[in-house]
Amino acid sequence: MAIATCRDYGYDCDFVVEGDIDKVAIEFGKHSAEHHGIEYSKETLTKFMVKK
Ligand SMILES: [Zn+2]
Repeated sequence: MAIATCRDYGYDCDFVVEGDIDKVAIEFGKHSAEHHGIEYSKETLTKFMVKK
């Protein structure tokens, strides 16, 4: 399990995605691209995730 929140990436945004690492990377990547105009590589995304 992993969790990624927009606040951890420096956004003033309450978006949170939780689940397995692949799902979080895909969903967070989609959200940041659509809502913040920034695309992250999967490598960058996994770096900021909190793993449980
Ligand atoms: Zn956001």
